[in-house]
Amino acid sequence: MQTNRLIGINGGTFDPIHFGHLRPALEVLHALHLDEMRFIPAYQPVHRASPSVSAQQRCEMVRLAIQNQPSFKLDTIELDLGGPSYTATTLEAIKKSEPNASLVLMMGTDAFAKFNQWHDWQGILNLANIVVTHRPGEPVPRDGEVGQIFMNHWVPKLTEASGQIVDLPVTQLDLSATALRSYLKNGDPVDYLMPENVARYIYEHQLYQ
Ligand code: ATP
Repeated sequence: MQTNRLIGINGGTFDPIHFGHLRPALEVLHALHLDEMRFIPAYQPVHRASPSVSAQQRCEMVRLAIQNQPSFKLDTIELDLGGPSYTATTLEAIKKSEPNASLVLMMGTDAFAKFNQWHDWQGILNLANIVVTHRPGEPVPRDGEVGQIFMNHWVPKLTEASGQIVDLPVTQLDLSATALRSYLKNGDPVDYLMPENVARYIYEHQLYQ
């Protein structure tokens, strides 16, 4: 029997990447038995202000962060596509190049809380499953439209190639890129919050000063 390749999709601004992105990704990879986890930096995020650092530099930081983890891959598809980065468009493009793969989109609870406002969220669920990872201070949404979407699609275990949502209580790391940018601006240490080589790249290129 031919089994589909299982590809995790970890999209984000990664401005900069930190352990709050990396550790949950590893836990999702293992818990859902994925073949690989793709890190996809947004070229031009549509749900937030433009990042202060270029897409190429955010990609380079991701590349450095994941270089020792063979199941983690950097995918620059949103830079290649250009323009605003819509997840539905990205997933469609990945599906075209990997027709036999099943895609699992990773979203933290903060991101999922606004999923009903995402461009073509129904299309996203037609193309992929979703794993909602718990994030400190951000409960799994149970109310409103997004709570309905969660409840209508939630399953205890993924059994189909798309249209299902699971949630995973990954190790809780109360970290955000916003906090890291503020530490860096103030000259505070970022040790033990992000990979050392990423911190070195930031200092060498004088980012977030
Ligand atoms: P910012 O503070 O700039 O908004 P961020 O740290 O929240 O950035 P993003 O690149 O915007 O990071 O997030 C990409 C994805 O990573 C989102 O799905 C988000 O929920 C998730 N994520 C970010 N930080 C954490 C964390 N500490 N724990 C779990 N998930 C996280």
